[in-house]
Amino acid sequence: MLNQVFLHETSVVASRQKIARVEIHELKNIPIQPPPFRDRPKTEGAMLMEIETNDGVIGWSTSGYTHPVTVDLVAKFVAPRILGEDPFRTDRIPLLFDRHTFERPLGRAFVAAMAMIDIALWDIKGKTLGKPVHHLLGGARDRVPVYVTHGAAYDGAAVYSREELAAEAAHLVKLGNNHVKNTVGRQAIPDPKDDYLRMKAMREAIGPDVKLSMDGNLRMSIAEAIKLCNLCEELDIAFIEEPVYYNDPSVLAHLRSRTTIAVAAAENEKFAARDLLVAGAVDFLQPNVNNDGGYSQGLRTAALARAFNIPLSHGNGNGPHNIALHAGVINGGLVEYHFHKWMAYNAIFEHVPQPESGYLTVSQEPGLGLNPKHGLIREYKVN
Ligand SMILES: [Mg+2]
Repeated sequence: MLNQVFLHETSVVASRQKIARVEIHELKNIPIQPPPFRDRPKTEGAMLMEIETNDGVIGWSTSGYTHPVTVDLVAKFVAPRILGEDPFRTDRIPLLFDRHTFERPLGRAFVAAMAMIDIALWDIKGKTLGKPVHHLLGGARDRVPVYVTHGAAYDGAAVYSREELAAEAAHLVKLGNNHVKNTVGRQAIPDPKDDYLRMKAMREAIGPDVKLSMDGNLRMSIAEAIKLCNLCEELDIAFIEEPVYYNDPSVLAHLRSRTTIAVAAAENEKFAARDLLVAGAVDFLQPNVNNDGGYSQGLRTAALARAFNIPLSHGNGNGPHNIALHAGVINGGLVEYHFHKWMAYNAIFEHVPQPESGYLTVSQEPGLGLNPKHGLIREYKVN
C-alpha cells in the first residue's frame, strides 16, 4: 500500500518534471595523485555537465572528450533546445538534433554533448525514483570485476622501462588487484618484439595466476598485430584491445583467425558495434557511455551484443560512469580502472568506488552516486 502511494506520488512528480537549467563546466589544473613510481601527471582537466529540473533534482555527467569547443556548442546551441523537455524521455533528446551529429567537424563534440546529456538525465531519473541507475538498466549485479591499466606515460613523462613496468605491475598486484593491462604499439614505429619483452617482464613480475592484457590503442598494422599476438601467446594474455587502425572490422576478424588471444574493441560511432559483430571481429565489445549516446545507447549496444552471444567489457578512462552499464545489463563485464583517469575521478567526485580484491562495489545511492565535490567547480572552472 505504502509502496503504491509512493509510486503514485513519484509518477505524478515525474510527469511534471522538466529540464530547467543546463550548464557545462570546463575545469583545469585539478591536483591528482601521480602513479606509484612517478611524480607526473600532477594535475588533470575535465568537462562536467550539470542539468537541473524544475523541481530541483540535479544530474551530473562528464565526457572523455574535453575539447573546449564543446562548451560553446552546449551553451549556445544544445542547452536552449532541451530546456522544458521531460528528463525521462531520453530517446526523444537526440531526435531534436540528429542531423547535426553527422556534421563535421562538430561531430565529435556533438556526440560528446549528447552522451553527457543522456548520462545526466539517467542520474536525474535515478534520483527522482530513489533508485541506483544500474537497477534502472536491469540490475544484473551489484559488483563488477575490474582490471587496472597502468604504465602509460602522460604529461611529457618518459616512457616506462621494462623494469619500471614490471615493478609497477607487481606493486598493483600486492595491493590486491588480479588483472593488469599495459599499452603496446606506442613506439614511433610499433615494435612487436620490444612490446613482447615488456609484456614478458610484466608476466614474470606478477606470476602465472594474475590476468594480463594489452591495449594497442589503434596503432598497429595487421602484420604488427599478428606478430605481437603470436609472440605473446605463451604469456597467457587475457585480451588484446583495439590493436589495429580504425578498429577495421574485417582486419580485426583476420587477426582473430590468426591468434588464440581474445580480441576486444570499442565503438565510438553509431554503427561500429553492428559492423564489428557482423564481421565476427571481436570476443568482447567495449562501448563507452561517455563517448557515444550515454546509457540509452549502451543499452542498445548491450542488446545487440547479446544477440551475438558476445559479452561487453570496458576500455577507456571513464570507468566510474561505465560501472552502471556493466552492473546493469545481463552481458555486462569487466570495468577498466585506468590509473591516471581514475585519480582524476577521485579528485573530482565524492564516493568513487575503489577496487577491492578484483571487484568494484556499485553505488546504491539514488542516481549514479557520482556528484562533484563541494567547491570544486568554483575553484577549477576556466570558462
Ligand atoms: Mg583502450
